[in-house]
Amino acid sequence: MAQKEYDVLVIGAGLIGSSTAMHLASLGAKNIAVVEADMAGRLSSSELNAGGARATWDQSINVQLSRESIKYLKAHQEQVGFRECGYLWMFNQGQWPSALDRVKFLKKEHGIELDVLDVAALKNKCPFIDKTDDLQGATFSPLDGLFNPNLLKNLLRAEAQAKGVTFLEGHRVRHVNRSNASVEVTCELLPPKNESELKDFFESDPTLAVQSKETVLLKGKTIVNCAGPWAGHLAKMIGYESPVWAVRRQVSIFDVRDFDMSEYGMMVDSSGVYFHPEATNILGGYADHSEPRGHNLNYDGQSFFEEKIWMPLFERSTKFEQLKHLTGWGGLYEMTPDKTAILGNVEGMPNVFENHGYSGRGAMQSYAAGRGLAELIQFGKFQTLDLSSMQGSRFNTGKLIPEGLHI
Ligand SMILES: Cc1cc2nc3c(=O)[nH]c(=O)nc-3n(C[C@H](O)[C@H](O)[C@H](O)COP(=O)(O)OP(=O)(O)OC[C@H]3O[C@@H](n4cnc5c(N)ncnc54)[C@H](O)[C@@H]3O)c2cc1C
Repeated sequence: MAQKEYDVLVIGAGLIGSSTAMHLASLGAKNIAVVEADMAGRLSSSELNAGGARATWDQSINVQLSRESIKYLKAHQEQVGFRECGYLWMFNQGQWPSALDRVKFLKKEHGIELDVLDVAALKNKCPFIDKTDDLQGATFSPLDGLFNPNLLKNLLRAEAQAKGVTFLEGHRVRHVNRSNASVEVTCELLPPKNESELKDFFESDPTLAVQSKETVLLKGKTIVNCAGPWAGHLAKMIGYESPVWAVRRQVSIFDVRDFDMSEYGMMVDSSGVYFHPEATNILGGYADHSEPRGHNLNYDGQSFFEEKIWMPLFERSTKFEQLKHLTGWGGLYEMTPDKTAILGNVEGMPNVFENHGYSGRGAMQSYAAGRGLAELIQFGKFQTLDLSSMQGSRFNTGKLIPEGLHI
């Protein structure tokens, strides 16, 4: 079996793994390899998300991670397609008190100002929102926005490569042997562009599959779990349990006759449907909370669009009474029990680190999340943001970080 040796093995080259590797190299770490089954990321969450970025969360740690990352997006807006177009969030009567509490919290704790709109002000700002009987008001966060996660991933990867990081394409991790001094990772070499094999792998548990292909052995000192929705499988291979799970989230692309949404940003309806301009069309998504856990990457097509997207939007605007479904996809959220990510060292395993479980906000937090973990690995402590509360051991101690405002 072929062998290669590195110091740090980062598993997963999505936004989180690419950012972690890039920051590690920036901080002076050497001999880093990022191990990835499919560099194109065809089924990865970093490829299949909605491109929203907001710092308006309920937990300070999530506000900080997003805010720091948005600063980076803004500083590189041309390269990553960032548009500071705001998030407009509509609320019904029952949702309104907690929306106002959030406005106060963000101002008091973080100095973030949100516009509070009554229904008349909402209609004035967005005249196409013309069915408002059930609404109590809306909030608008002007500093949030939209970006192209694919461009961000390419930028992080290019910076990482320029600093000496090696990306190993077509390597799917199948087995890990670990001691406190070293790790040995056996990878199956995946033939490039074999889509059906890829889907098979991404929908099944690789720890159970028979290993029959050409393999390569990667030796290292430290391993970093950045496997996104597959982080639970990888944890098992490394020899620990992580409480994360994957769940399908679907989005549709549709056309609205005689309506140009391009001047608006992300909008979230009180029903939970979110939508924003996507080239000349609209992208709409909905987090169906009855969706069973698992690695289901199928898109339900017209039936999802009609039931979950069109019906609520029909009730919000006469402009949305005639929509044409164009396409869509199913991707995976990587969830934790408190809906905040897991970042830090794995307890009892000094050379194992993890950075995953972003529960629907990993694209917008990836820059600061990668920087934070890289600091911990390289210097043994956080330097910019104190992210120590995000360690996975919080699920044993009960010191949870329950995030609420979740789509
Ligand atoms: C429909 C949808 C909408 C979303 N909208 C937003 C949004 O608007 N804003 C936002 O911030 N976030 C959003 N997200 C969430 C966001 O996309 C994710 O949190 C983020 O991309 C996670 O990045 P990651 O690098 O952890 O995971 P991924 O991008 O999935 O990367 C993990 C990588 O690990 C690799 N891998 C896994 N196992 C192995 C193995 N055994 N061997 C080798 N490689 C392996 C995979 O191939 C994959 O490339 C959305 C997600 C979905 C599905």
